[in-house]
Amino acid sequence: MGREGRRVTVIVILGAPGAGKGTQAVLLAERLGIPHVATGDLFRAAVRDSSPIGLEARRFMERGQLVPDDITIRMLLERLSKPDAANGAILDGFPRNSAQAAALDRALADRGERVDLAVDIDVPTEELVQRMSGRYVCREAGHVYNESTNPPRVPGICDIDGSELVQREDDKAETIRTRLDVQLASLREVVDHYASTGILRTVDGIGPIDDVAAAIDDVVRGVADSAG
Ligand SMILES: [Zn+2]
Repeated sequence: MGREGRRVTVIVILGAPGAGKGTQAVLLAERLGIPHVATGDLFRAAVRDSSPIGLEARRFMERGQLVPDDITIRMLLERLSKPDAANGAILDGFPRNSAQAAALDRALADRGERVDLAVDIDVPTEELVQRMSGRYVCREAGHVYNESTNPPRVPGICDIDGSELVQREDDKAETIRTRLDVQLASLREVVDHYASTGILRTVDGIGPIDDVAAAIDDVVRGVADSAG
C-alpha cells in the first residue's frame, strides 16, 4: 500500500556510458527537489553504515561478488522510504537488465507505487565512442585530460607536470566499441521493458548539457500534465 495522500514520482534515467546520464540525473533531481538515488552510492553507503540490509550487501561486495538483485531492490526501497524521498526520486544505475526492471516493477507495485517515467538519453554509438576515446592520462601522475572537453594547453603534454600524455588500452576506440556492444545490449533490454509498459520517453542526448536538460524537463512535464 502506498502512503495515504502521497504522490510519489519515481523516474528512471537510462543511457549508455558516456551519454551524460549521471550528470542529467543529478540536475533533474535538483530541479524537482527529490533525491538522486544512484545504486553505486547505495553500495558505498552500505560499506560505511551497518544497517542490516547494508551488512547483507557488504558480504557479497567483500567477496568481490555482485550484490543479488533482491538485496539491491530492498536497499532501493529502503532509500525510497526516507523522508527526503517522500515526493519521489530519480533512479540512476538500476535497473540494468530486463529481469531487474521487472523485479523493480513488482517490488514497487507491492507498495502501491510504480516507476512513472523512464527517460532514455539517446546518443548514437559512434558519438559515444568518440566521447570516451578522447581520454588521455599523463605518464607521471595519471592526470586526466579529454581531447574535446578538457584538452591540455599543449597537445600531448600534461599542464601540471609536463609529462607525456598517453591513451590507456581501456580508452582506445576499439576497446570502447567492444565494451559498449555488451553494455548497449542490456540497456536495450531495459529500454524495451519500459517501452512495453508504456512509460518510456527518449530524448536526444547530443548537444549541450542545458539543451538535454531542457528536453528532459519537457518529457517530465508532459507526464505530470497527463497524470493530472
Ligand atoms: Zn600530469
